[in-house]
Amino acid sequence: MTVAPSRSPRSSAELIRAEEPVLAHNYHPLPVVVARAEGAWVEDVEGRRYLDMLAGYSALNFGHRHPALIEAAHRQLDRLTLTSRAFHNDRLARFAESLARLTGLDMVLPMNTGAEAVESGIKVARKWAYDVKGVAPDRATVVVAADNFHGRTTTIVSFSTDETARAGFGPFTPGFRVVPYNDLAALEAAVDETTAAVLIEPIQGEAGVVIPDDGYLRGVRELTRRAGCLFVADEIQSGLGRTGRTLAVEHEGVVPDVLLLGKALGGGIVPVSAVVARREVLQVLNPGQHGSTFGGNPLAAAVGSAVVELLETGEFQRRAEEAGVVLREGLTALVGKGVRGFRARGLWAGVDIDPAVGTGREISESLMREGILVKDTHGSTIRLAPPLTITDEELRTALGALETVLRKGA
Ligand SMILES: *Cc1c(COP(=O)(O)O)cnc(C)c1O
Repeated sequence: MTVAPSRSPRSSAELIRAEEPVLAHNYHPLPVVVARAEGAWVEDVEGRRYLDMLAGYSALNFGHRHPALIEAAHRQLDRLTLTSRAFHNDRLARFAESLARLTGLDMVLPMNTGAEAVESGIKVARKWAYDVKGVAPDRATVVVAADNFHGRTTTIVSFSTDETARAGFGPFTPGFRVVPYNDLAALEAAVDETTAAVLIEPIQGEAGVVIPDDGYLRGVRELTRRAGCLFVADEIQSGLGRTGRTLAVEHEGVVPDVLLLGKALGGGIVPVSAVVARREVLQVLNPGQHGSTFGGNPLAAAVGSAVVELLETGEFQRRAEEAGVVLREGLTALVGKGVRGFRARGLWAGVDIDPAVGTGREISESLMREGILVKDTHGSTIRLAPPLTITDEELRTALGALETVLRKGA
C-alpha cells in the first residue's frame, strides 16, 4: 500500500529535524520555528507568540513588516524589481540623494549585504590610498580593532580575532593591523604612511555591545585627520536609530570619511547595504572597477528610500532614547540578581549574566520558554536589541521575564 504524502502542516519539531540533513550547520538557532510576525511580535508554527528582543541583529529596527515599508515594497514589486546597473533605474537617484542627506555625506555606493559594504569600503580606502594619498603599490594597510565583527568573507575573517571565525579558512588577506579597541595610543602607534584607513565599529555589537570611552571616537577622528588616512565607521549594527541617534558617531559629534550601513537599511525586507562617503573618497571608483548585479536594484532602492523617510522624522531615534531609559532602569534593578553588569546605549544592551545562574545560551533558551526571544553573544553575555517600535509595556514584560528566569535559574 502506498501512503500519500502527508499534507498536514509540519510541527516545529519536525521542521527542525528536517533541516538537519540538508542545511549547513553554520548556525545554532534557538529551537523556535517562526511562521509569521508583526511589529515586535513573532508567532511560531504552533501559534505561540514571542516578543522579539533581537530584531534580526538590528535588521528589524522598525519592527516586523512596518506598514510604510511593506507598502513601498508592494508598490515597487508591481512596477519594477531589477535592472542591474547596466541600465539606470528610476528609484536609485532618490535613494542615494536621501541617504547622503540623512548622513551628511556626499556619495553612495549601493551594495546588498553588510559584508559586501565592508569589503567595498576596504577596496575604496585602498584605492584612495594609492590614487590620492600616494601609498606605494600594494603597500596600503588598514588598521582595525581587536574583537571586531565586520562579517564573514575571506578578507574580513582575515582580520578577525575570533578563532572560531578564522580557524580553517586561511590563507588570509594581508594588509591589516589589529590594535586593542578603545586605545588611542595603540592606534596612534599602528598608523603610519602606509595607512589607508582606520576601520572600527563605533560600538562593538557582536563583542557584547562594547561602548568605548567618551572621547575615543573624537580621538579617532582627530588622529586619522592628522595622519592623513580615512576614518571608516562600520555602523551596520549601531546605525539607523538603534542608539537613539541616526548614527552612533553622533554621540560624539563626529563625521567619519566613510560610513558603512546595512541591516536596518533593508527595512527587514531585502538586503540593502551601502558605502556612504565624502566625494573625494568615493570618486576614486571608475566604471568597471567595482560592482554588484543586485546592488542598487529598484526594489532595494524603494525600500531603502522608505527607511530613510522613516528616519527623517526622528521619531525612531527619539523612541530608542526614551525606551532606552526604561531598559537601563530595568537592567540596573537586576544587577546583583543574576546580572553581573551591562552596557547600554539607546535601545541596545549587552548583559553579562552571572555564570553561576547559567550560560548566555541557557538563559536564551529559558527566556524563549517565557515567550521572549534573545540571543547570546559570547559565553555569558546576552544582547538585547528589540525593534525600536516596542512599547514601554512590552519592554517591561521582557525585563520581567528576565527577572523570573534569573531568579529560577536557567
Ligand atoms: C552584521 C554586521 C556585518 C555583516 O553584515 P552581513 O549582512 O551579515 O554581511 C558587518 N558589520 C557589523 C558591525 C555587523 O553587525
